[in-house]
Amino acid sequence: MNYLSTRGHPDRKRFCEILLEGLAPDGGLYLPEQYPQIDTATLAKWRKLPYAELAFEILSLYIDDIPPADLKAICAKTYTAEVFGTDEIVPLRELEDGVYLEALSNGPTLAFKDMAMQLLGNLFEYELARRGAELNILGATSGDTGSAAEYAMRGKKGVRVFMTSPDGRMSPFQQAQMFSLQDANIHNIAITGVFDDCQDIVKAVSNDLAFKRKYRIGTVNSINWARLLAQVVYYFAGYFQATAANDKPVSFTVPSGNFGNVCAGHVARMMGLPIHTLVVATNENDVLDEFFRTGVYRVRGAVDTHETSSPSMDISKASNFERFVFDLVGRDTAKLRKLFVDDLGLNGSFDLSADPAFAQAAARFGFRSGRSTHADRLVTIRDTDKRFATLVDPHTADGLKAAREQLSPGVPMVVLETALPIKFAATLVEALGEEPARPKKFEGIEALPKRVVKLPADAEAVKAYIAEHCD
Ligand SMILES: *Cc1c(COP(=O)(O)O)cnc(C)c1O
Repeated sequence: MNYLSTRGHPDRKRFCEILLEGLAPDGGLYLPEQYPQIDTATLAKWRKLPYAELAFEILSLYIDDIPPADLKAICAKTYTAEVFGTDEIVPLRELEDGVYLEALSNGPTLAFKDMAMQLLGNLFEYELARRGAELNILGATSGDTGSAAEYAMRGKKGVRVFMTSPDGRMSPFQQAQMFSLQDANIHNIAITGVFDDCQDIVKAVSNDLAFKRKYRIGTVNSINWARLLAQVVYYFAGYFQATAANDKPVSFTVPSGNFGNVCAGHVARMMGLPIHTLVVATNENDVLDEFFRTGVYRVRGAVDTHETSSPSMDISKASNFERFVFDLVGRDTAKLRKLFVDDLGLNGSFDLSADPAFAQAAARFGFRSGRSTHADRLVTIRDTDKRFATLVDPHTADGLKAAREQLSPGVPMVVLETALPIKFAATLVEALGEEPARPKKFEGIEALPKRVVKLPADAEAVKAYIAEHCD
């Protein structure tokens, strides 16, 4: 399997070459040259597999530069009941007639990002050992990504994590999750500033190519293809649990920010998984909902990016969206470059409303969208508690609201649960008047000793800290 860039760079790469990389050299995103096609006989065989074996089968179609026995061992080590809480790994439960919740949030940090990041940690350790190399991961987080990365990389050989976060701006629970890690290879850096300052620092350090090379700086952001690929697996697992046979279509609703999670659903559908509809659920930051309603993709500026009660979906642009648009325009790299380089670069937007390709987003690729607000989230959280005695987190609530607007008779609707309510306790208290129950392993974490340094919002200070801790 070879990988290409959405922007037309002539090079083709193998999986392990792009594993440790971010963007392609021309600024595009990596995608496989074609999507492997799954027939009904294969689906029938996969239906009975435990999650780790299903993951191995799917990953094998995209990874041909890791020996199968090694890849199988990596999957088996990653997807265990011990790490994810159940033998099913992503158990499905019916909430009401035809509406299901797929639990993706029972990993170490209680958000779905663990599903991919735990695999990434094991793949990184394997590949770095094979190369005899080291990697220093530099990231910026306002919550879920940083903790998922740290729990995936803690104690891993050849990897260090330097995670910047805005000082004092994460929830006490999120801070405690990250700062209580005592592993020597994990470095928490609290920046005196806001999340944008952290992102600017990461950009500035990555743009210093000499520093980047010398200190082997890498990232684990959501454009990483291996993360996206890992997420394809739970669409298959959800499908098998929602159906008894392989001739039934299923729809999925996905609380979306950077379009990584739902893009994995798109890949599963392109492989031939019978997905009826993919519902993109957004919050007040509705750049994606706007696109699927109007054909206009309009990136937001900082002042138009709202801080909401589903903060992991607070995005100004959706960094994986280019992957879907590439397929939407028939993989025409010139057209893709016009949209993402010329139009976005010049105007901050592009308009496909008059392009026949736009009609295909729904008709051919199955996409629909929905939007919800803070008030909607509170109503959904209360209603789900009252009618089904089930607590959902604010992101999953955004999904449930959008899902109910897109039901088709006879087609099961699977809503992806992207975090557990305890991570966003303040909104649960606002909706219900009480804190959600906390898993035992997180009791009292706010009181644990914290391992964090405070640095000014200055890339040079962060570089000096990295240099000092890299021996
Ligand atoms: C990251 C995240 C999302 C958004 O996922 P994308 O892949 O960026 O679309 C939604 N909900 C939660 C809880 C998250 O952590």
